[in-house]
Amino acid sequence: MENTGVKNQQAIEYRYVKKNYFEVASEKEVEQIYKFAEKYKKFLDECKTEREVNDYVLEQVKSFGFSEYNFGDKLKTGDKKFLSNRGKGVILFKIGENDIEKQGLRIIVSHLDSPRLDLKQIPLYESDGLCFLKTHYYGGIKKYQWTAIPLALHGVVYTKKSDKINFTIGEKEEEPVFYINDLLPHLGKGQLMKTANTVISAEQLNIVVGGKAKKEASVKDKIKENILEILYKNYKITEDDFISAEISAVPAFKAKDVGFDRSLIGAYGHDDRVCAFSSLMAMIDAKNKNTTICILTDKEEIGSDGVTGIKSKLYEDVINEMCIALKKNASKVRQNSMCISADVTSAYDSNFAEVFEKNNSAILSCGVCMNKFTGDGGKRESNDASAEMVQKIRKIFANNNVIWQTSELGKVDLGGGGTVAKFIAELNIETIDIGVAVISMHAPYELISKADLYSAYTAYKAFLE
Ligand code: MN
Ligand code: MN
Repeated sequence: MENTGVKNQQAIEYRYVKKNYFEVASEKEVEQIYKFAEKYKKFLDECKTEREVNDYVLEQVKSFGFSEYNFGDKLKTGDKKFLSNRGKGVILFKIGENDIEKQGLRIIVSHLDSPRLDLKQIPLYESDGLCFLKTHYYGGIKKYQWTAIPLALHGVVYTKKSDKINFTIGEKEEEPVFYINDLLPHLGKGQLMKTANTVISAEQLNIVVGGKAKKEASVKDKIKENILEILYKNYKITEDDFISAEISAVPAFKAKDVGFDRSLIGAYGHDDRVCAFSSLMAMIDAKNKNTTICILTDKEEIGSDGVTGIKSKLYEDVINEMCIALKKNASKVRQNSMCISADVTSAYDSNFAEVFEKNNSAILSCGVCMNKFTGDGGKRESNDASAEMVQKIRKIFANNNVIWQTSELGKVDLGGGGTVAKFIAELNIETIDIGVAVISMHAPYELISKADLYSAYTAYKAFLE
């Protein structure tokens, strides 16, 4: 897609006064903003876990001529490759004609995992008229937000015979949903005196899965027995198969337009699928002389650890193997490479003005956000990109009419957060955070602007090209 935005170079380069993208966009561009959002919403409804995004990405890129890469494969200019990391993340790359020792690689990294409730390994129990599944929450959530909303179950189960069963229930109109109880206000005086973090405890995040007792006098837990029968009949799952399963409860909501003007999108998992989707589309559409890599990783929400997180050596291995195949010096290549850590940031929210420093906050619809640094307090655990790197990115954006803004998370003393940027930088690759601003981040239903989604796509595409 071409960008038909404002052509005045100076006006864009010095866009420190944040302007609503809808206000400065041409009519044609507004049309593109809304059209792009339609594809994104469909993607969100299809993909609520990292495994589901992985499968979506492979299907997409195969249709655009990408083929599977295995370590040791020969590579040449024009090759378009994908490598799935155990079904939970994907590395895409295109070999360009530029010399990667001189021009380096252009890399974009986003993550596919979102906060959710994972089932425990022994989850199923019956208690006083209801049957439940016990959960262990994943990522930083406000626990009370996950009660009294419809939930769907997504995941995989490996049975004793090691058959893999893909398990999704609660998304289709005719399917049942699941539920976590909250206390009625009539009896909630004591609960409401508690601090928000303890209003609902982790061990109260138990999911209701049934209430129908079996007609059999000899059985003790009649509701649970009935549920186990249904699970076996419908999915061939037995109780101990949960031990070798990864099932998550996620909000059963669909992505929807928000507002009379339909300028916003409400959905589960904008963090970080908004950056994953826009960077994937940019990777597919970009016509580049550079060699480019699009990394869609897992486990960011719990610290990027584990074999599918960005701390895994896999990513360094791919760059090294690429250099061996192209007969290039990997140290030189990494030294001259640039990376965008594509992750969401907080949007200024006038309802909570006290936590933001307005001059340096992201304003919704004012374009994709560049965070020179993230981290906590005195920039602890931050990548803190160099002024030189910021200037390089500014130039790329100015030359491609990208509408963007600079921002940081909130007031310095109040908290903070991190991204994968610092782990990429450890490989001697210049890295900077650029992503979409989100309202109610990590809530079961988050809010973004369609303008910022499209702006991210144009920014990532310009960077790759
Ligand atoms: Mn994120
Ligand atoms: Mn997050």
